[in-house]
Amino acid sequence: MNADTSGPHAGPHAVVVGGGITGLAAARRLLAAGARVTLLEAGGRLGGKLLAGEIAGAPVDLGAESLLARRPEAVALAEAVGLGDRLRAPGTTTASVWSRGRLVPMPKGHVMGVPGDAGAVAGLLSAEALRRIGRDLELPPTEPGDDVAIGAYVAERMGHEVVDRLVEPLLGGVYAGDAYRISMRAAVPALFEAARRHPTLTAAVRAVQAAGAAVPADAAGAATGLGGSVFAGLDGGVGTLPGAVADAVRAAGGTILTDTPATGLLQAGAGWRVVTPERTLDADAVVLAAPAPVAARLLGGLAPEAAALLDAIAYASMALVTFAFRRADLPELPGSGFLVPPVDGHTIKASTFSSQKWRWVGEAAPELFVLRTSVGRHGEEAWLHRDDEDLVAASLKDLGAATGLAARPVATTVTRWTDGLPQYPVGHLDRVARARTALAGLPGLRLAGAAYDGVGIPACVASAHRAADAVADEIIATPETGHPGAGHSS
Ligand SMILES: Cc1cc2nc3c(=O)[nH]c(=O)nc-3n(C[C@H](O)[C@H](O)[C@H](O)COP(=O)(O)OP(=O)(O)OC[C@H]3O[C@@H](n4cnc5c(N)ncnc54)[C@H](O)[C@@H]3O)c2cc1C
Repeated sequence: MNADTSGPHAGPHAVVVGGGITGLAAARRLLAAGARVTLLEAGGRLGGKLLAGEIAGAPVDLGAESLLARRPEAVALAEAVGLGDRLRAPGTTTASVWSRGRLVPMPKGHVMGVPGDAGAVAGLLSAEALRRIGRDLELPPTEPGDDVAIGAYVAERMGHEVVDRLVEPLLGGVYAGDAYRISMRAAVPALFEAARRHPTLTAAVRAVQAAGAAVPADAAGAATGLGGSVFAGLDGGVGTLPGAVADAVRAAGGTILTDTPATGLLQAGAGWRVVTPERTLDADAVVLAAPAPVAARLLGGLAPEAAALLDAIAYASMALVTFAFRRADLPELPGSGFLVPPVDGHTIKASTFSSQKWRWVGEAAPELFVLRTSVGRHGEEAWLHRDDEDLVAASLKDLGAATGLAARPVATTVTRWTDGLPQYPVGHLDRVARARTALAGLPGLRLAGAAYDGVGIPACVASAHRAADAVADEIIATPETGHPGAGHSS
């Protein structure tokens, strides 16, 4: 085996494993800190769960499509790599819930589906369910403890219906998971903390809402020209972000190797040796930004306890079915799309009306109407073994029942996201903390990505930056001391 330590400049060498948004953001940050960087991507394409595509000539995201702009990291990354003028607020954020056969406007006045009062969800829930929500005020306080499943906690205080018809479809959209298993501490940390301080869940929701209302406008995206929008997209697709970050990485002297999976990781002196099928790279630091099972395999011989913890992280698989219809063939479709409570037993879990949600989709193909459905969530992967035609047919059936749509599409694309979203069940954050502790004795090695610090793109970018900063601190000499430390830039 030849160890390849060559590179364009001298200086510490960092290898980043994984060319999703996490790995790319980590590579960019390490270069800015002064490291030489090689990024290894197993596949032929960069971007991971971000994928810009097209249907019937219209550009559309076939993977992740929306950036949370309330958090700064993803919007700031887009701006830093020259996409600032392509950031767009959604054309509409008015969504519906397809519940008991009706499209009901998505209620406002809740935190991830947990209402601040029964009136906020009156249009969606039964009279009995609304009464049950009110009982929260009469129940003795129940501490969420160190962690609790959000569904179980909310059902105990406010009844099952609000969980099944609101919390579940909302969280399902984020995690493709099961609200009765998802960690409240990980998924809704502000509500979790508030629930520990307040005697009722209602009071906790109101405290979170009040804190949100107090966020200065520029922290909510106003400074970016997004007009305070909570979410942002990119003209051309969020899937164009990885390519722009990759360009920035290459422009800063970084090396990106696609079709180059990391297959082994060994300690070599004070550093690391990263094995790929065709070459071996010596590195002073390694950021593991591939999915958790891959990190687990690479760490198996080095840190068996961490490997076992990471290997136990479960993933949900799902498919996105993207349709192009002739606009003239469709009935009026409301807002940005709709969510589907799994309790109603339909196949699709959500539909996004891309041509309405993102003006650039509609403007690129004004005669077409592009929409997507999603199928599958954790524990319900059976549908994903069906043919594309079955997924298209099942989606059309549900779309017809929900909206009255009866037209035939002019084009369809099925995108399967096997192991698309890591699950955050109760205890997940402790598991991740234990894995990181188990790796603490391995200097210059960090984990980053969707499995650890949040699944959303801003959380992935933040995770990447933390990992990059930490290894930069360890391997890059500061001008003052000549010793490693504080080498990162912002
Ligand atoms: C269908 C779908 C829709 C989503 N929608 C949104 C959304 O709208 N907004 C949002 O914020 N988030 C969304 N998410 C979540 C978000 O997109 C992901 O959590 C995030 O993109 C994950 O980024 P990552 O870089 O951590 O991991 P990944 O994107 O999984 O990237 C990991 C990379 O590592 C590579 N790799 C694997 N093994 C190796 C190896 N041995 N060596 C080298 N490379 C390897 C993979 O090929 C992959 O490219 C969505 C996710 C899915 C699946």
